[in-house]
Amino acid sequence: MELILVGIAALADIIGGYLTIIKRRLSRDTLLYFIALAAGFILSACILDRVPETMKENPRGALWILVGFMVIYLVENLFSTHAHTAEEVQTHIEKEGTFHEHSHSFVAQDVGCEYLIAPSASYAALLGLAIHAFFDGVAITAGFAVSNHTGALMFLAVIFHKIPEGFSISSLIMGAGGSKRGGVLSALILGIATFTGGVFAYLVGSSNTGLARALLTLATGSFLYIGASDLIPATNQGRNKISIIFVMFGILLFALSLYLLGVAGIHP
Ligand SMILES: [Zn+2]
Repeated sequence: MELILVGIAALADIIGGYLTIIKRRLSRDTLLYFIALAAGFILSACILDRVPETMKENPRGALWILVGFMVIYLVENLFSTHAHTAEEVQTHIEKEGTFHEHSHSFVAQDVGCEYLIAPSASYAALLGLAIHAFFDGVAITAGFAVSNHTGALMFLAVIFHKIPEGFSISSLIMGAGGSKRGGVLSALILGIATFTGGVFAYLVGSSNTGLARALLTLATGSFLYIGASDLIPATNQGRNKISIIFVMFGILLFALSLYLLGVAGIHP
């Protein structure tokens, strides 16, 4: 069952990638609202559920949450560093009047200067996001190894940001001069990384709950990073403030999910 849910999450990556090449593309605003919703949900899942649960189980878990946070911080930033040459910056300033230094992790398609992305930087971003996607998969099956309640929450925390994730990597690859096929292929790679993470945690975690909890703690740290440092800053780029309402809506959706899990008899 949990592997089917991991499969659905992986598929959402691929759908997100595919959305970049169809005629009726997602508008930038729609994508931002999606990201805002995912931000509200993933942050409340971490802060209201995973962090207190981890501390209850093992107070030293806090250190591993920080490790998970730092792993994603390092892979998304170390691998994604790139240099714009002075000439590139000058050309851009002449054309656009300004130059914004920008991140190439989650929301690079939003900055409007895609042609400045070097192909090597886009592959680095793909590697960073693939490691992140691996933890998405880990969180789902490690969550189910701990309890159905945790697994269901982790699945929701993952699924809400998967379509923007696939969309981001695909548009980033194409923004760096890649083909449409390359764009969708990059989203497929994220899907495969998600599934690999899910199978890995399933194999090592289903027979050893202690190990599943440890993996889940790492994944919690990675989710805190994704929520606070990938998704929330992306919502700040909106032309309007509606994305703030969607962040709040994401928090409400988390509360609603808790309620519905209770109704379905899936308690913590
Ligand atoms: Zn993800």
